[in-house]
Amino acid sequence: MRGLTGERWLKARIFKIAFAGRCAIPGCRNSTMGASGTGLAAFHCRKHVEHKARHGSHWHGTYSAAELKPYLAAASSYLRPRAESDRFIKAALSAIALLLEEAGPTEIATRLRGMSPRRRARIALARLRVAGIKPERFVAIVLAITALIEEDPGSHRTKEFRTVQIAKSLHRLASGTHKRWPFVDHQV
Ligand SMILES: [Zn+2]
Repeated sequence: MRGLTGERWLKARIFKIAFAGRCAIPGCRNSTMGASGTGLAAFHCRKHVEHKARHGSHWHGTYSAAELKPYLAAASSYLRPRAESDRFIKAALSAIALLLEEAGPTEIATRLRGMSPRRRARIALARLRVAGIKPERFVAIVLAITALIEEDPGSHRTKEFRTVQIAKSLHRLASGTHKRWPFVDHQV
């Protein structure tokens, strides 16, 4: 592919990967799902496709609570004095408060199968409401994950990875409290 530049080089590279039938992750020798007839993924193997479904990236893992902790502390102390005075922060807080309020009732995990992503998202929000997670925590987590990805030189800077990391971090807050179930939920 010598002599090709920019977009043409990229197309040639993608073409090569697709026809070689090997996973595009460096060091992975597995066949792509497309090549092995196990799925439609043309560039990645099953292992890396499943990794992306879990973590939001084909190769980067989920940040631990300990890694996130200092960023969360910084984000919280940034937000606290600005919750009333900064109109953007204020707008974000009231939008999240409304989402939580309108999320409807919670549902037990076994009934989630087959539900639309939109419904599942509402149930996830309802669980956070029932677990007593405040809008301030949502905004703090978004800021903390964004800053952590920004500062981590080995991070995966895609929207999907950021979104999944935010969601996983929020989910940890809701699921860490299951021992105190059932909660009193005024919307059930
Ligand atoms: Zn692979």
